[in-house]
Amino acid sequence: MYSHRGLIVILACFTVVLPTAAQTPAGPELTPVTLRQGDLARVRFQIPEGREVAKASVVFGGSTFPCFQRDGEVVGLFAVAARTKPGPHAATLWVRYEGGTTDRLPLSLTVGSAGFSTQSIRMPKSKTGLMSDEILAKEREILYSAMEKTAGEPLWEGVFANPVEGRISSPFGRTRYVNGRFWSQHSGRDVAAPTGRPVKATNRGRVLVAQKLWMRGNTVMIDHGMGVFSLYNHLSAIDVQEGEEVAKGQVIGKVGATGFATGPHLHWEIRVHRTPVNPAGPLAHGIALGE
Ligand SMILES: [Zn+2]
Repeated sequence: MYSHRGLIVILACFTVVLPTAAQTPAGPELTPVTLRQGDLARVRFQIPEGREVAKASVVFGGSTFPCFQRDGEVVGLFAVAARTKPGPHAATLWVRYEGGTTDRLPLSLTVGSAGFSTQSIRMPKSKTGLMSDEILAKEREILYSAMEKTAGEPLWEGVFANPVEGRISSPFGRTRYVNGRFWSQHSGRDVAAPTGRPVKATNRGRVLVAQKLWMRGNTVMIDHGMGVFSLYNHLSAIDVQEGEEVAKGQVIGKVGATGFATGPHLHWEIRVHRTPVNPAGPLAHGIALGE
């Protein structure tokens, strides 16, 4: 017991001496380090004294997640895609400084299974024509280019709110087969609700997309800042305009069945940059950036 304490005192002395002697920056802080498929994580990194950061991003699972600068720190969010294999994983925080040098900082995390279920859907021929790579690419291009305009600070406040009243008819992450063929892992949450029921912004933000798409039908995408977005699809009506600032709970449209939908419901998503995350986390706990 006493010798153990003695060891801590010795270690503490070394900890105080080391930073000035070696000038090594403190490592990045990753929270949490244990995640499940569809979760999101936060990275913070103290910018070393006298350095100016030009650009920073986290690379994980083949995706790049741009980071932001706040109060002398690099802060960023990244997502564990639903398809990520459970087990130990490595991510990298890249920090490029003015003048051209780069820090490559390793991050270790463990991903657990979220136990996503499987679903088979029958779709009429009139709708399966929408299942083309060309249409998907066109939609992605519209959403991804709008995402470039994300605010550099958080616009969200507290926990995220349910956008519509109704029963969850298909949860996030479910593996879907359409007419017997693998289609996708569900990128959002479906809520069964009658046509015309008001759809509300899940949190405060700014509307980046308010237009009719093909698969997604009438679509609203809201920027909540720092690469956090929410999407609302298959709407029968859109009640906001691109560029408009919206409050949490503000009506942005109405439930419908436009696009690739068999009946009236709201498909909604939360994304961290381009990667969909399980909305359950932000609904229960919000998204913490830390102080
Ligand atoms: Zn859906």
